[in-house]
Amino acid sequence: MFHLVCMTCGRTCGDLTVANCPHDGGVLDVRYDSAEIPLQRHLPGIWRYAARLPLTDERHIVSLGEGDTPLLSSSQLGPGISLSRLYFKNEGLNPTGSYKDRIAAVGITYLRQLGRRAWAATSSGNAGASLAAYGARAAVDGYLFTLERAPRAKIAQIMSYGPQVMSVKRLGYDPAAEKATWDNIAALCDANNWLMLITARSNSPQSMEGAKTISYEVCQQLHNEAPDVVYVPVGGGGLLSTIWKGFKEWHAAGYIDGLPRMVAVQPQGCDPITQAWREGRPVQPLDDCASAVSGIILTSPPDGDLVLQDLRESDGWAVSIPDEVTYQAQSELASREGLFVEPAAAVVWAAIKEDRRAGRLGGDEKVVSILTGIGFKDSAAVQRMTDDKPLPMIEASEILHIAP
Ligand SMILES: [Zn+2]
Repeated sequence: MFHLVCMTCGRTCGDLTVANCPHDGGVLDVRYDSAEIPLQRHLPGIWRYAARLPLTDERHIVSLGEGDTPLLSSSQLGPGISLSRLYFKNEGLNPTGSYKDRIAAVGITYLRQLGRRAWAATSSGNAGASLAAYGARAAVDGYLFTLERAPRAKIAQIMSYGPQVMSVKRLGYDPAAEKATWDNIAALCDANNWLMLITARSNSPQSMEGAKTISYEVCQQLHNEAPDVVYVPVGGGGLLSTIWKGFKEWHAAGYIDGLPRMVAVQPQGCDPITQAWREGRPVQPLDDCASAVSGIILTSPPDGDLVLQDLRESDGWAVSIPDEVTYQAQSELASREGLFVEPAAAVVWAAIKEDRRAGRLGGDEKVVSILTGIGFKDSAAVQRMTDDKPLPMIEASEILHIAP
């Protein structure tokens, strides 16, 4: 069984359905009666950890085969910077192409458990696609409010699953529009008995539990040895915070001896968390966003202060990467590892290179990088990656003469 504890005032919350602490609005942490993590091997993917998910009855489970993504040892990029133990957790292989499927699977399952009929959410793309897919699978209605500048390819994927999709003016770069959107979605859900599913710990603590299965899997894939350092792309901050929670839980269950240091990676043009980390202050919203790395460009990150706390607790750090360097990293992951990821995922490889150069990351460290989404997600970035590559037109007879 699970319960909710406020991370601000420490009170236990009796109502398991609320999104925030009723006393002070604090972030609620989902806790479990026992530190043990018994594996339910008869259930697929993330559901074998169901004892550590907010699930009351396995008959509610909505699954599309999420989780069990590969942890790949780097073949060329790591050795190229004298980093012999670099691993890529390829989350792009989830059913809709991103790690958000873990969260949506738990979120839509939780919605069914509560007997709600519809979900509503904001998303720059990936979370929307996940919620729409799992919502379709569960035959519930969906309402998705997306960013003004969300990539059209991501929106097309969401629409194909059939929810109602609306683009909200100024959402994505105007903190006032962000706040109004979130407040109004919450009110809409309250009025209609729908469930608001925002992929942030400060809004959907129950659903976010799905993301910590990444850490459980990584530990199991490393034969129950913790990584030394974990690199995570950070927009809203919920992923890093939940992954850190997952490692702590796996550690508390006695499966691993140590804990990794966590590294938050943000795009330089929109990095409120890195700025706060460097200046030793709480996260403050930015006025504008100068990055185009969709998926991790939030001017007002909902879980930003949780990330700062996690970086302190894990003895980690924060890095920011210019967009051009990210696109270069995306191209290298594809051409030298065979990993076709979206720019929001490629930031981690750019950060690892930068940290090796700056001496923050030793060559003996066992490093895990979370590749959050697949390359097909951002067609503009795919285009950019290949724009300067020639495509010669030849006669069939010339084929015999191309060998070096
Ligand atoms: Zn509280």
